[in-house]
Amino acid sequence: RVRVHGLEKSFGDQHVLRGIDFEARRGTSTVLLGPSGSGKTTVLRSLNVLETPEAGVIGIDDVEIDFARLPAGKAGRKESARLRAQSGMVFQAHNLFPHRTVLENVVEGPVVAQRRPREEAVADARTLLDQVGLGDRADAYPFQLSGGQQQRVGIARALALKPRAVLFDEPTSALDPELVGEVLAVIKDLAAEGWTMVIVTHEIRFAQQVADQVLFLDGGVIVEQGTSAQVIGDPQQDRTRRFLSRIR
Ligand code: ATP
Repeated sequence: RVRVHGLEKSFGDQHVLRGIDFEARRGTSTVLLGPSGSGKTTVLRSLNVLETPEAGVIGIDDVEIDFARLPAGKAGRKESARLRAQSGMVFQAHNLFPHRTVLENVVEGPVVAQRRPREEAVADARTLLDQVGLGDRADAYPFQLSGGQQQRVGIARALALKPRAVLFDEPTSALDPELVGEVLAVIKDLAAEGWTMVIVTHEIRFAQQVADQVLFLDGGVIVEQGTSAQVIGDPQQDRTRRFLSRIR
């Protein structure tokens, strides 16, 4: 379960998040929609504590931080690291280690960051690679794969850490159009399997298929939220309607 309450974030004098509140139940998919600059990526990066909000509470399962009370220095970094470990992030561009094989890319995190036994991590990684349709490419290097395949390795790498929530930041926006479908199909499978996911995307049809909940952001606030049938199928706010008519 993901809980966000009263999130505030500024960059300099630019107030980017102005009180974000939402909850994502365990095993559900939440899609963040909104125009460029509305704050979607900042919400996602805050969940993974890649950004530190000035105020607000973020909880993922049993780890919670009240950012207004986050201690300075080492104690604060320790709390942040505990929350960060609850989620796994899939970025726009996979940033795989170029000089390591696909399998090594997936095994690295569990072995180095989580100190899990290597044999166990390798067995898990093979299962995950099968799941994203790359079981036969375990020994390939990233440059030998298509962009869509690389992005699927990026997904396997995030899942290998067994996160409580998986965060996707426009996972298909850097791909050639013909490669988008295979990545979205993998994410749909994960939703069906019951992973808890928060997804920033501009793929409206995909959002309709995968989202249990849609949040529409504009200007650092959630303007509208509900099921995809509500927010995408029957938007109530002008700003949501205008946005949807522009991108459809
Ligand atoms: P997009 O769809 O274009 O990715 P977004 O909704 O994800 O947009 P954010 O990336 O969250 O928007 O950015 C929100 C605002 O915060 C933007 O105006 C952006 O320029 C600004 N911003 C984001 N990160 C930083 C940063 N590290 N330093 C300064 N400003 C930033």
